[in-house]
Amino acid sequence: MQDLSSFNSFGLHVHAQNLVRICSEADLKNCPSDHALILGRGSDILLTDDYEGTVLVNCISSLDIRHEGDRWIVRSGGGMELDSLIETLIARNIPGLENLSAIPGTVGAAPIQNVGAYGAEVGEHIVKIEYFDLDRRCFGSLSHDECEFGYRTSFFKKHPELRYFVTAVTFSLAEKFVSRLTYKGLAGEALDTPYKVREKVIALRRSKLPDPAQIGNAGSFFKNPEVSEDKAADLRRSWPDMPVYPQSDGTVKLAAGWLIDKAGCRGITHGRAGTWENQALVIVNRGGARPHEIVALAKYVQMEVMNTFGISLEPEVRIYGKTGEISWDQI
Ligand SMILES: Cc1cc2nc3c(=O)[nH]c(=O)nc-3n(C[C@H](O)[C@H](O)[C@H](O)COP(=O)(O)OP(=O)(O)OC[C@H]3O[C@@H](n4cnc5c(N)ncnc54)[C@H](O)[C@@H]3O)c2cc1C
Repeated sequence: MQDLSSFNSFGLHVHAQNLVRICSEADLKNCPSDHALILGRGSDILLTDDYEGTVLVNCISSLDIRHEGDRWIVRSGGGMELDSLIETLIARNIPGLENLSAIPGTVGAAPIQNVGAYGAEVGEHIVKIEYFDLDRRCFGSLSHDECEFGYRTSFFKKHPELRYFVTAVTFSLAEKFVSRLTYKGLAGEALDTPYKVREKVIALRRSKLPDPAQIGNAGSFFKNPEVSEDKAADLRRSWPDMPVYPQSDGTVKLAAGWLIDKAGCRGITHGRAGTWENQALVIVNRGGARPHEIVALAKYVQMEVMNTFGISLEPEVRIYGKTGEISWDQI
């Protein structure tokens, strides 16, 4: 049995039958694939039990950068840390991904939930994703349009039955730096280089989010809910200071962290699990927590938000049981 505590950012002590590091595309051709769980750095998952199968850890870390017209074409191995890639690009004066600085995890996992932060999403810059199909045992690729990127979602999340292992991601990045500083915290700042944006983003993240190396967590536990305009207007009558973010499709996005806070769940502790004092959306392992304690706390938070606002929060983290992904309602 393989201890997975350093392969999930909650730091939960669960085990897998077997663990295989995938360091090249060739490794995939012979890897065990029955009930295989694909992992990057485990920073967006909740393992609720010992895993009765093989964990495949993406360690493919190639990097190829070329210049084409007025753009940079960057092909990164899926096992590279997303933040190391961003750091390397900025050191080479290649802008575009700076707002996504310091998001934990791998390049290969980033498109799965279309990671986003500070007004940017990774999918905007992706032109191609290469993968290995664990069932058909062949390589393939998807174009930007085929990836179906949306808010914290993509083709991969919409089709969990397809077991595609992302081997490489290709980005197309404009040569000229165009700052994106609309997000609260960046607006009004004199951030005229990608380096300055990166430094600011890192400082903001450090001030709000716990470092998983010190306190186990998986970032935002729940997604920001999207509600109808009528529901948002209704809520605003009772909660005039509630932040609302109207979307282009007519829905309104609400801040899950704000809802959790106002439902009285910021900084609470149940057993050895809790919500983070500086950002209620983050559930933390206060030390030695077992999976059921994280689940119980998250269910409690979900219930309190439902009771206070009539809104059902949906987990952003992916949840796995003994043999594969399980739905939140199953536990
Ligand atoms: C402190 C903290 C802050 C965070 N902040 C943000 C944030 O600002 N924005 C944001 O969007 N996310 C954030 N996250 C969530 C997390 O960083 C991202 O979801 C990241 O992309 C996860 O990468 P990973 O390599 O750890 O993936 P894992 O957790 O290992 O895997 C996540 C999912 O992707 C699948 N997967 C992983 N690699 C592959 C692959 N190569 N091929 C196919 N499927 C794969 C897994 O099976 C799993 O379902 C945060 C997490 C933490 C701990």
